[in-house]
Amino acid sequence: MSFESPKPHQGEHIDPAAVCLDGRAIAKRVRDEVKEGVSELRNAGVHATLAVILVGDDPASHVYVKHKQRDCERTGIQSIRVDLPSTTTTAEILHHVQQLNQNASVHGILVQMPLPKQCDSDRILSAVDPMKDVDGFHPVNAGYLASGAPRFVPCTPNGVMRLLREYDIPIEGSYAVVLGRSQIVGRPMAALLTLANATVTICHSRTKDIEEHVRRADIVVAAVGRPEMVEADWIKPGAAVIDVGINRISDGSLVGDVAYDSIRAVAGHLTPVPGGVGPMTRAGLLVNTLRAAKTRLAPQEDA
Ligand code: NDP
Repeated sequence: MSFESPKPHQGEHIDPAAVCLDGRAIAKRVRDEVKEGVSELRNAGVHATLAVILVGDDPASHVYVKHKQRDCERTGIQSIRVDLPSTTTTAEILHHVQQLNQNASVHGILVQMPLPKQCDSDRILSAVDPMKDVDGFHPVNAGYLASGAPRFVPCTPNGVMRLLREYDIPIEGSYAVVLGRSQIVGRPMAALLTLANATVTICHSRTKDIEEHVRRADIVVAAVGRPEMVEADWIKPGAAVIDVGINRISDGSLVGDVAYDSIRAVAGHLTPVPGGVGPMTRAGLLVNTLRAAKTRLAPQEDA
């Protein structure tokens, strides 16, 4: 997929258009790599397995889990699903997590968020064995990333890094601005960009004059959950603009956190919504599951 317009007629002026970062195509490439890795691992006697705990009836969560299971099927990863009613308590979920932690044939554990409000999400996420934490949300894994030695990295920022690299967007020495400081996107995103030698600023809801920071950025990652908040006149010409946001607006359509149509004419690279970061997030889960399964092999290799 490319935004490039058809060739102009002689003398016709056309607006420059950003290169589209095609998350669907790159995610397919990642899935193919994972499939190969899963197959090699099976030949070595390990069948990569992901367990998903799904609590309650949230329709969006059910759709996400179905997609994740389909991705597993496509790549040969075995998936196990634990469905629990919306009345489930924290203690009951912890019990299931412990069982999966102890099950040697389960390599990755994912607790689908959000959990019903009676559940203590932080406690549950912290109970997942850090070596099976394929979402990369466990405080131990957040600590590894913050210390510069990442182990399991949250899927969305990892997917963004892969997109940047696939399109040869220079990271080292660049100035990157990350909008949003959540544990699952903003903070790990900033940590990964820093590790790749970008100079990084994180902006959040209390940042003054956000647009002034964005105007200087070579790379902008928007993860605020505000429909089309980032406007075209905030963007430095030629910048790479990564839109993590997914917002459903009143007409039912999905938009990102950046004003896609107008930014297309200014940015050098731009992700669409949908079809940009979303597929990379899904692919990241497969990468982490394969990685978790490979750690099972290590002791045998040493033996
Ligand atoms: P959170 O709500 O956890 O965090 C939002 C962040 O944005 C916070 O740090 C908040 O600041 C900041 N923020 C909110 N409003 C503003 C504002 N007006 N100006 C500046 N900063 C602001 O969201 P997530 O990080 O979980 O997700 C962000 C977006 O990304 C959502 O749209 C979500 O749906 C999407 N998403 C997409 C994924 C994908 O695969 N494409 C995966 C994960 C998320 P403060 O900390 O001060 O409150």
